[in-house]
Amino acid sequence: MADAPAATQPSRLVVLAGPTAVGKGTVAAAVRTSHPEVWYSVSATTRPPRPGEQDGVHYWFVSDEEFDRMIAEGELLEWATVHKVARYGTPRKPVEAALAAGRPALLEIDLQGARQVRATMPQALFVFLAPPSWEELVRRLVGRGTETEEERERRLETARVELEAEQEFDVTIVNREVHAAAEDLVTLMKLSAPLRTSPSNPDSEA
Ligand code: 5GP
Repeated sequence: MADAPAATQPSRLVVLAGPTAVGKGTVAAAVRTSHPEVWYSVSATTRPPRPGEQDGVHYWFVSDEEFDRMIAEGELLEWATVHKVARYGTPRKPVEAALAAGRPALLEIDLQGARQVRATMPQALFVFLAPPSWEELVRRLVGRGTETEEERERRLETARVELEAEQEFDVTIVNREVHAAAEDLVTLMKLSAPLRTSPSNPDSEA
């Protein structure tokens, strides 16, 4: 039961999900800044970049055709259509490489994606990021101001459904303050059991 020293800690995969606008991206970014030892997955998406977003840093921005190709070639660990408008997916190879290299890995994805990862990598730790209240979630969503009215409504509807999924997760972190939530997440990553790759898991889907 003794803690392994940091340098020899085995790798583990942590999946962070939660309702839209709860601050998953901000919490994950705070982890990236304060804990560079944590490897962070860069998703592929078919949505266009927002101002300031860089290809390969915030997302890999790809065309519908390229996303179709990635699915067909089995390049995505999971993928989902989010808010009924764009597709998002986790490139599989970089995750496997990070875990093989012994780095703790963090996926910040939506609920549908988290369920897919649960099916293929049940040993991962599934963390639900919850808002302090529904009112606060609505305030954060409206406050961001980057979506149209129609899109905001769609996102709120998704958020209502997503909040009900909390019980499917191993643990909940309430996002009252970004840095506190990020530290809670890192503490959990250090406490969680290592991810063991199953020998029956095929490397490719070919
Ligand atoms: P946004 O467009 O605001 O950056 O992200 C919208 C939603 O897509 C967020 O809830 C985010 O967690 C989710 N998302 C981002 N990357 C992925 C991914 O690789 N897979 C899945 N399933 N969802 C993702």
